[in-house]
Amino acid sequence: MAKIGINIATGSLQQPEMIVGIDLGTTNSLVAIIHPETKMPIALKEFDGSSIVPSVVHFDQFGNVEVGAAAKPYLESDPANTIFSAKRLMGKSYKDIQTHQDFFAYKIIDDNNDSLVKVQVGDQFYSPIELSAHILTALKNRAEHILKTPVTKAVITVPAYFNDSQRQATRDAGKLAGLDVLRIINEPTAASLAYGLGLDPTEEKTIAVYDLGGGTFDISILKISGGVFEVLSTNGDTYLGGDDLDRAIIEYWMGLMKLDTLENQKSLKQQLRLAAEQAKIALSNAAHFETNFAGEKLTITKEIFENLIAGIVDKTMECCAKAMKDAVLKVSDINTVLMVGGSTRVPLVKNTVATFFNQPVNDTVNPDEVVALGAAVQADILAGNNQSMLLLDITPLSLGIETMGGLMDVLLPRNSKIPTQAGRQYTTQKDGQSGIQIAIYQGERDLVKDNRKLGEFTLSGIPSMPAGLPKVDVQFLINADGILQVRAKELRTGLTQSIEIKPQYGLTDQEVEQRLMDSITYAKEDIATRALVEAKTEAEQILAVTEKFMSKNIALLSKEELMQTAEAMQALQLAITMEDKNLIQGKTEALNELTRPFAERVMDQAISGALKGKGIMD
Ligand code: ADP
Ligand code: MG
Repeated sequence: MAKIGINIATGSLQQPEMIVGIDLGTTNSLVAIIHPETKMPIALKEFDGSSIVPSVVHFDQFGNVEVGAAAKPYLESDPANTIFSAKRLMGKSYKDIQTHQDFFAYKIIDDNNDSLVKVQVGDQFYSPIELSAHILTALKNRAEHILKTPVTKAVITVPAYFNDSQRQATRDAGKLAGLDVLRIINEPTAASLAYGLGLDPTEEKTIAVYDLGGGTFDISILKISGGVFEVLSTNGDTYLGGDDLDRAIIEYWMGLMKLDTLENQKSLKQQLRLAAEQAKIALSNAAHFETNFAGEKLTITKEIFENLIAGIVDKTMECCAKAMKDAVLKVSDINTVLMVGGSTRVPLVKNTVATFFNQPVNDTVNPDEVVALGAAVQADILAGNNQSMLLLDITPLSLGIETMGGLMDVLLPRNSKIPTQAGRQYTTQKDGQSGIQIAIYQGERDLVKDNRKLGEFTLSGIPSMPAGLPKVDVQFLINADGILQVRAKELRTGLTQSIEIKPQYGLTDQEVEQRLMDSITYAKEDIATRALVEAKTEAEQILAVTEKFMSKNIALLSKEELMQTAEAMQALQLAITMEDKNLIQGKTEALNELTRPFAERVMDQAISGALKGKGIMD
């Protein structure tokens, strides 16, 4: 067996294997590497010359999955089973996306406002993590096919504004796709690295990264100093991008053709959408575009196009102004402006950005590829190939605590720079619960039983409150010496407890290495178990709530309703015993659908009762 070394500083396995950089985009995704001979970053291309994989996943009725260009046509022909923009759902609850529900043409489960969203396709339920994992698996397979070597390690990019749980979700998606995610880096940081910025430790620069993609717009202001990137501010619009430029052309043409709607002519609608995108792309290099559509000649000039989209471009500039204000900077403080995302190829966009920042923009690196290329540069640094980069002290394994069902909840992902700090809030599961046990674990597996226990303590003396009401804030602090302090504080009462641990103590390099390998080997089982435990926990909570509700409001429900509810509860209970995740989620959804009108009725009656009780003046 080949011997594998490990670099404790990076937590990376030192195999003569390539680490890839992945841009997991809302619209398009792609993979890049550092070319072993030229040492330059390159995007991996298929024979047809395309490096871009559309971030679209289609499920057919037999459960077959297609990803990328093959899945894209189904967006119009089979929208209910075709998932786009999964990235927008990462780490989100239904409450977060509620106002944008019309945007999604597939079914998003809305049974519990606060739990993480799920997508329903037929009788299967998918988490955004699983959907992203399908895209990452396709990228991995494609890379292996092109490179003719296994690909198991990656650096993946995320928007600078992604929070802790969105980053963790992205890591999990990588793991599920069989990838050891060495690091999650910010997209604007990756773009800077692709331009060679931040590689020289003596350099000090303030830069603006303007990223206009297919459906999202981000502006980030970064400060680079001593090889460290600091995000000074971010702004943007998560529902503004190239699709809006296409839509402007579609509306213009529909007006010319005196068409009100194409809602019932899917194939024509699709054709027109494609023609509009073609026009937009052509007008980035030409003054005029012409095509045939359903026997008619359609034309558009660059001048008209620019008039149509001026409002959209102006909106992005308002975001830039806000970001500059938040960073407390003047335009003259910005040393460099980088253009990222396919839509920055539009000349009006480039010119407007250059005018705003009062300097020429940097657009020499392909804007579709720049983020992936930068991720590849970061991967190369982690592989230890770029000696000029100093590596900071880093946690070799993830640190977290045990939550419901024996799950590992990571607070500090591995490879976090130290000193560092992270926190999260937890609550009680039972009414009147007076203590919370904090058990601290180290490792990459989803169940704490497979990780290494570092210590535990109990925060006791919480005053009696209903379940879910106490707020317990857990903080992980690692100082420069690598000592971990874990602190728990109940926020209503101020009650505090803490513990100090040396995480590195007693763990050999081989053991760290083994733990990393295991987390990849068992990723599929681990994530399936986690999903099952989460589905069971949610189902049990809903059963408890329903039971409480029924016994309290028994008088307000008909006999038939009581029967139906009892049956639905029984079916859910049975599904839990059968340990079938999709069945549990299906039955949870069914119980919710059934009881939702009851809850509304009870609420109405309570309100009218209250009004009566008040005795409105007569
Ligand atoms: P994301 O980062 O959101 O995944 P991309 O950066 O890949 O998206 O950008 C995709 C968008 O770029 C699409 O709307 C596409 O039409 C647009 N685009 C690609 N090439 C051009 C071009 N030459 N001119 C204008 N828009 C373009
Ligand atoms: Mg992008």
